[in-house]
Amino acid sequence: MPYICMYCGKEIKNLERSTVRCPYCGYRVLAKKRSSLAKEVKS
Ligand SMILES: [Zn+2]
Repeated sequence: MPYICMYCGKEIKNLERSTVRCPYCGYRVLAKKRSSLAKEVKS
């Protein structure tokens, strides 16, 4: 399941098990793409 970086908003598809962080900016807070967060953006 793809993840979205909460900092830069980029999609991370190849998320490694040991390193749960954004490969672009290094931010460690990621959200699953399919979550309630998407609904908030939609509205
Ligand atoms: Zn990022």
